Amino acid sequence: MDYQAILEEIQEEIQPFLSQGKVADYIPALAKIKKEQFGLSLTLFDGTNYSVGASDTLFSIQSISKVFTFTLALKFFGPNLYKRIGHEPSGNPFNSLVQLEYEHGKPRNPFINAGAINVTDALINYYGSEELAYAEVLEFIRSIADDSSIVTDELVAQSEMDHGHRNLALANLMKSFKNLDNCPQRVVETYFRHCAVEMNTKMLSRAVLYLANHGEDPITNKIYISAQQAKRINAVMLTCGHYDASGDFAFHVGLPGKSGVGGGIIVVVPKKMGIAVFAPGLNEQGNSLVGTMALELFAQKTGLSIF
Ligand code: GLU
Repeated sequence: MDYQAILEEIQEEIQPFLSQGKVADYIPALAKIKKEQFGLSLTLFDGTNYSVGASDTLFSIQSISKVFTFTLALKFFGPNLYKRIGHEPSGNPFNSLVQLEYEHGKPRNPFINAGAINVTDALINYYGSEELAYAEVLEFIRSIADDSSIVTDELVAQSEMDHGHRNLALANLMKSFKNLDNCPQRVVETYFRHCAVEMNTKMLSRAVLYLANHGEDPITNKIYISAQQAKRINAVMLTCGHYDASGDFAFHVGLPGKSGVGGGIIVVVPKKMGIAVFAPGLNEQGNSLVGTMALELFAQKTGLSIF
């Protein structure tokens, strides 16, 4: 298949829609991002990369980081992790407090904010401190992307903290239900630092290869997690990766993926490749509008889907 030609076609077809959607504006550091940007990359198992557009532009990975923290927590705690969080779709906005109250402080899944904050808490327990948990997650991301230049934008992390009242409320609510071990403020700070990691679509499409290959990096042969765990993460991405638009994404794209409010989406094509797209205009559910469109076009043109 001529992947480069397909990516170029997609780039052409999405142009009229680039002005649509709304850039995340809940923090000033993200609100100033230019909307009319588009980058799309795919990386094959032999490392061959195909890219179009702003594929070198770094952006805030935001909720995409939740896939990486979930990977580590599952690796260290195995099925015990599900005592703290579930693995069911929420059907609710990513930062809903209501559901968390109803369900006695146990988040539905690791990809809604409460779930990801809870996973961060588990990682702080495992590593012994917030600093170490942050550093090890960053190290893991650098390892799977095979790129030691990756860093956090501390200004974005700080800006999140200044406006993070709802996330702090989620953490406090879990604490009140005794489903958070560490200081809510410190846990949320650590979570925000992971969300504020900056990557581009080339790096991200490379980074998710371990999920396309049963937990093993097909290029370096490093085994990060078991095949069983990789399968579980892909399943949770398929059912919960796009907040309350997860069903829609499965319907239109048919591949496991995870979005972030920074405008990025990662997608896994099992046994074949990793894909990442970046387009900062978001739809109503907080997922990249043009990014979702581009992935749907990709699935149509290539016939690649898990169904
Ligand atoms: N840092 C963001 C928040 O917690 C992540 C949300 C997202 O990417 O969906 O609000």
